[in-house]
Amino acid sequence: MTEPVIHTAATEVNYDAEILVIGSGAGGATTAALLAEAGFDVLVVEEGEWVEQGSVVPFSLEQMDRQYRSGGVTVALGLPSIAYTEGRCAGGGTEVNSGLYRRPPADLLERWRQQYHIRDLDPDEMNAIAAEIESALHVTTVPGAVSAPSAVLRRGADALAWENSESPRWMIYPPGGDAASGQRQSMTRTYLPRAHRAGARLLTRCRVKKLSLDGTRANHAEVELANGGPGRIRFRHVFVCGGAIHTPALLQRSGLRDRIGDTLAVHPTVKLAARFAEPLNVPDDVPVHQVKEFAPEISFGGSASHPGLIALSLADNWGEFGHAVRDWKRVSVYYAAITSEGKGRVKAVPGLRDPLVAYHLTSRDRQLLRSGLSRLTLLMLAAGADEVYPSYHHAPVVRKAADIADLQRSFATTKATVMTVHLCSTVPLGEHPLCAADSFGRVRGMRNVWVNDASLLPDAPGVNPQGSVMAFAVRNARRFIGTERPHG
Ligand SMILES: Cc1cc2nc3c(=O)[nH]c(=O)nc-3n(C[C@H](O)[C@H](O)[C@H](O)COP(=O)(O)OP(=O)(O)OC[C@H]3O[C@@H](n4cnc5c(N)ncnc54)[C@H](O)[C@@H]3O)c2cc1C
Repeated sequence: MTEPVIHTAATEVNYDAEILVIGSGAGGATTAALLAEAGFDVLVVEEGEWVEQGSVVPFSLEQMDRQYRSGGVTVALGLPSIAYTEGRCAGGGTEVNSGLYRRPPADLLERWRQQYHIRDLDPDEMNAIAAEIESALHVTTVPGAVSAPSAVLRRGADALAWENSESPRWMIYPPGGDAASGQRQSMTRTYLPRAHRAGARLLTRCRVKKLSLDGTRANHAEVELANGGPGRIRFRHVFVCGGAIHTPALLQRSGLRDRIGDTLAVHPTVKLAARFAEPLNVPDDVPVHQVKEFAPEISFGGSASHPGLIALSLADNWGEFGHAVRDWKRVSVYYAAITSEGKGRVKAVPGLRDPLVAYHLTSRDRQLLRSGLSRLTLLMLAAGADEVYPSYHHAPVVRKAADIADLQRSFATTKATVMTVHLCSTVPLGEHPLCAADSFGRVRGMRNVWVNDASLLPDAPGVNPQGSVMAFAVRNARRFIGTERPHG
């Protein structure tokens, strides 16, 4: 499709908008589409560029440079530090993610409603919204056979009688297509074109530096173009949707600090590479099966297994494991993710462009990571792996179940490469005193500043989060539409 983007060669910009949406990812694109369709004048500002899907090779350096923040290299400090990855482009994380969809579970919504005192969180409404999102994103399972790395998860789990299932994805498959032929229904293919058709404008390569406040209202945003030029955008309402790291950082830079950024939650993961007798590697896609026997505490799934990523997962013990990269066609990478009870912080620091991020794993989290990696190794052996290479310093090669005892003895999270792609909860919603936003995402103490992205999820959901992020974004946008009128 044609980019619905304002192209500006200007060295300075000056805009007015009834609604300013900051960030065009899962939360921002959804918010923009709904508000524009309700008749509001919407301007979306996105720091990254518009990159047509298919125009860059997945996991290439070019993709890292154009679609990921800081080339994909960002870290939450701690013991151990946790590497995390965020999208930075039109469509945000939805352009680079794995597309695995999970509806927000009913028991999770009920726990959040009670624990965080979320007003009017109606399970029937959330279910109806989820169905609407599933239809808009074409959420579906793979037609025909799943990929060989995905079948490994199913085979191993079935052999151990562990619960597993195929996660549907936001994909359109051509008639007769297979697992590799799907086209991801990210925001640049769905909600951003919808917003554009309803009259919304999208300004890319433009970063919001701060909001200018006047008492309980914000009145304009100070922005910076990619070419360094300055600008100002005046608005009646602003929706901050920069993701769980950059939303709190922007609010803090604007002087809003109360409870903001103190409760970062993530799904920490540890990895392994497993080698099989036959070739199975699919370099540019991820497995669709997930093993949920120990969920929500621990979930297993498959990672991207491009040869470079296999090398990365072997790097912690390269001397012992490095040879396996020559067999990359017989190797695939898998992860164990946990629902952490630890918390992190995001702090904007004067003079620095990016915030400082820290994360603290509790001792229960460390235990879960050890247990997750051990069980994932067992799963690989049950699926027929001949060698398993766990990703931590001085890890043993595991060839049989008895070797797992060595793994359990020698594993420590401080020796492991712990990473995450699921970040949330830095501006949690609800009426509980801990919550930085009210039950519909309005920032406490402010009349026209709203958050509508992953920051609002009260804590780590234990499932792939994009479905939950979008469901809350739709719910909150509808509430806004029900209470505010477009000026027209
Ligand atoms: C590699 C990867 C794989 C993933 N896999 C899955 C998966 O399979 N299933 C799933 O459910 N979830 C997955 N996720 C997570 C999912 O993508 C996120 O939960 C979701 O995108 C969060 O939506 P968001 O709107 O909060 O933020 P984002 O989608 O990250 O969007 C935020 C946008 O705001 C922009 N922005 C930030 N600050 C500013 C500013 N100051 N000015 C202007 N623009 C700004 C950013 O550039 C970015 O484009 C994955 C994420 C990654 C990175």
